[in-house]
Amino acid sequence: MAERDYYEILGINKNATDEEIKKAYRTMAKKYHPDVSTEPNATEKFKEVQKAYDCLSDPEKRKNYDTYGTEEPNPFGQGGAGFSGAGGFGGFEDIFSTFFGGGRRASRSPNAPQKGRDLRISMTLSFEEAAFGVKKEIKISRYKTCSKCGGSGAESPSDIHTCSRCNGTGTVIVEQATILGRIQTQSTCPNCGGTGRTIDHKCSACRGEGKVRNDDPITINIPSGIDDEQTLRVPLQGDAGVNGGPNGDLFITFRVKDHEFFKRDGNDVSLEMPITFSQAALGASIEVDTLTGKVNLKVPAGTQSGTKFRLAGRGIKNASTGRTGDQFVFVKVVTPTKLSKEQTELFTKLSKTNESASNSIFEKFKKFFSK
Ligand SMILES: [Zn+2]
Ligand SMILES: [Zn+2]
Repeated sequence: MAERDYYEILGINKNATDEEIKKAYRTMAKKYHPDVSTEPNATEKFKEVQKAYDCLSDPEKRKNYDTYGTEEPNPFGQGGAGFSGAGGFGGFEDIFSTFFGGGRRASRSPNAPQKGRDLRISMTLSFEEAAFGVKKEIKISRYKTCSKCGGSGAESPSDIHTCSRCNGTGTVIVEQATILGRIQTQSTCPNCGGTGRTIDHKCSACRGEGKVRNDDPITINIPSGIDDEQTLRVPLQGDAGVNGGPNGDLFITFRVKDHEFFKRDGNDVSLEMPITFSQAALGASIEVDTLTGKVNLKVPAGTQSGTKFRLAGRGIKNASTGRTGDQFVFVKVVTPTKLSKEQTELFTKLSKTNESASNSIFEKFKKFFSK
């Protein structure tokens, strides 16, 4: 199957900026994320999107891709020395299988260590919890290794015996008479189910399962900067592993609630700030709320409604990337609705000065059009 062009996969053109690539990736990854997507072949498509982004987000790989059609450095001049085969797809596959909880098992033997099942839940956070991070105590039902039998499934260790049918190998040889003669095939021992052991009395706590359902609360440390629809992997908090295998992981997908006043865009936040006519005209120092308290913002004289001010470093501190966003303040000049007598007089006086100002503008227009 021919590989699709990386730019095509992300739906961008060849001149796309890093920012556009990132944006396209976020959109596509959301669309095809196997946890949430209902698209056909979502897993394949997601993999494709990852691969395209992996290449195009790396300036070196992107340059190679644009030049040679592959992300590896000069494929025509691969000597031996200097060729790095370590990065790229190998690494990606590893990340991918980690992401899916290492789905492929090396062995099917019932005694082989098996990783526990991954669990997926969703959680709603307030704007502040997502911005600052939070510790949450949650209860989820998951399998834990039975503490009474330690996972063996036997009431006591003396109840465990080597299977007499297969002598502990877990497999039996079955001999069948066919027209070609006698054929021997190996199959799982029907007596012990392949475990090589039989148990006289099953553990009363887990009924021989070796594991029990448990919903003891667990504490989750949610890092600051979590965004809506983001998924967090909490290692080893899934179902217990089997035969000494590691626990599965817990994946939490977040929904972040809106704030009453602050709007959020990634790590940046913005706020609309009402100011009065006179503050806008004369300039003022106004008090502005930020996520970390009030700060003073200098509004220069002659500020127009809708002007944007930037408060550097007053956004969300993202624990995963180490970056801190900015806060943007949009000032909105508020027209007074109720005027006192004195104010009415002042505005009337003011309007007379305004008339002369607009007259001079009017004169300019006249001159302009009569040219
Ligand atoms: Zn047990
Ligand atoms: Zn057996």
